[in-house]
Amino acid sequence: MNSLDVVSDVLVIGSGIAGLSFALKIADSAEVVLITKKEKAESNTNYAQSGIAAVLSPSDSFEAHVKDTLVCGDGLSKRAVVEKIVREGPTRIQELIELGVKFSRTAKGKLDLGMEGGHSKRRVVHAKDLTGQEIEAALLNAVSKSPSVKLFENQIAINLAIKQNRCLGCYALDTEKSVVRNFIAKITVLATGGIGRVYLHTTNPDIATGDGIAMAYRAGATIMNMEFTQFHPTYLYHPNEESFLISEALRGEGAVLRDRRGRQFMGDYHPMKELAPRDIVARAIDQELKKSGDNCVFLDISFKDSQFVRSRFPGIHGKCLSFGIDITQNPIPVVPAAHYCCGGVRTTIAGETDVKNLLAIGETACTGLHGANRLASNSLLEASVCAHYAAKRCIELLKKKPLSKPFAPWEPGTAVNIDEAVVITQNRDEIRRLMWNYVGIVRSNKRLTRAKKRIALLQEEINQYYWDFIVTPDLVELRNIALVAELIIDSAILRKESRGIQYSLDYPQKLSVAEDTLLRARIKSL
Ligand SMILES: Cc1cc2nc3c(=O)[nH]c(=O)nc-3n(C[C@H](O)[C@H](O)[C@H](O)COP(=O)(O)OP(=O)(O)OC[C@H]3O[C@@H](n4cnc5c(N)ncnc54)[C@H](O)[C@@H]3O)c2cc1C
Repeated sequence: MNSLDVVSDVLVIGSGIAGLSFALKIADSAEVVLITKKEKAESNTNYAQSGIAAVLSPSDSFEAHVKDTLVCGDGLSKRAVVEKIVREGPTRIQELIELGVKFSRTAKGKLDLGMEGGHSKRRVVHAKDLTGQEIEAALLNAVSKSPSVKLFENQIAINLAIKQNRCLGCYALDTEKSVVRNFIAKITVLATGGIGRVYLHTTNPDIATGDGIAMAYRAGATIMNMEFTQFHPTYLYHPNEESFLISEALRGEGAVLRDRRGRQFMGDYHPMKELAPRDIVARAIDQELKKSGDNCVFLDISFKDSQFVRSRFPGIHGKCLSFGIDITQNPIPVVPAAHYCCGGVRTTIAGETDVKNLLAIGETACTGLHGANRLASNSLLEASVCAHYAAKRCIELLKKKPLSKPFAPWEPGTAVNIDEAVVITQNRDEIRRLMWNYVGIVRSNKRLTRAKKRIALLQEEINQYYWDFIVTPDLVELRNIALVAELIIDSAILRKESRGIQYSLDYPQKLSVAEDTLLRARIKSL
């Protein structure tokens, strides 16, 4: 055993809703180490605005939520998975309330249920428009009180340690001390979130570089349906703001989309207008912008009572005001941006992957709930429910007494310090722009083929840096962004149809049979 080794029963990578919920549930049965690559609250979860979808009103039903999810998933969602997750929703919401999450309530003290695109009923529990922050704080607070969970910040997982298709833990770079540690565990759980940073415009924070998906692919796990990147239709268009989402809940409360001349255009695209599923709204905006040559369209809620707008959307109101936009008086300039990864590491509802002793949960995983398109506010629900089932499965796996086996220390070889950090930023920017322009909302064979050629060249360069230079967080993320970009491009090329969020100019029709896109690597490296 090396002095840098950290040993536990269970290693959780990621401190969003999935990782924290899982760690809490397993804490009575195992010693848990939870690592996270930045400050502990930094996650997609922390920025979630609208809320969690669950059947909580007497006028709603599980059947209706299941149906809405299946319609949105466009033939690719797995009914059994959808039913199980939807039915579990109310219990998980209750559990979050017991943990201290303060969801917004009506004057009569009932949960205030929001409406969002694609939902046939009001069913989104929320904490005003700061739902994720409220959940993240409550989960972190609970974890801090659990003596069996040790949380380490500023540890970026680089690679999983795999022997004979069995996960032994991971290598992670301590970004403060610049050392690579072996985190050794009987069971490893990937809860590393999404991939938004693969794209130029995204609602996701910096951490969302697809690390878990890339690590799992390199470890030999199957990756599913990566072509389905969901673009959120309304992200603040402002030169000084890189990733601020304008929640769908505004449209749920009646906000309308207008072009620069003030014309409402959604009626030209869908009978549900602003409440059409996200992909349709995002494509409509994309088309309007291509037609007009404008930089943005406008989301207008200024005609609603200003007191209501301020109290229902304090986060969005405050943020926009900081840029000189008073949303009670003026429309908000918006554009679409990459938002959510419907694909990921193929798992069961309990997080099991093809690699032994490796589980994946949350946005990193692909359970079959979302299919070809995610229904709004179903992702926090999925993360919470799957963390629950994965914890149960993990307890069963631990009863089989898996061994914790040390693995070789990180081998820096002949690597030297990177001399010009600019090569990293240049490649990163190039990939993000390439993905935005060629693998965006509307796709074509020509653009995808171009993207594939470019990414292959970039990958070659990046792999060279990876072996030649001492590993840094930027290099780890760059390597992962490049691999995730490749997986998205390959999956988009393999799908010869338009379904859900994949819209192809060359294959505008939907095929009669819906099939998952599956990618699996030979194990490339450790
Ligand atoms: C702006 C915004 C608004 C949203 N609104 C909603 C909403 O209203 N409702 C809804 O259902 N969904 C919403 N979503 C989606 C939802 O927030 C995410 O899908 C969900 O929070 C994912 O949770 P997670 O635990 O899987 O990942 P995350 O919350 O992203 O957590 C991932 C964790 O892994 C860590 N990590 C990543 N890579 C590494 C590594 N290599 N080593 C160590 N740690 C690592 C990160 O630092 C982070 O702690 C929104 C997303 C965004 C960005």
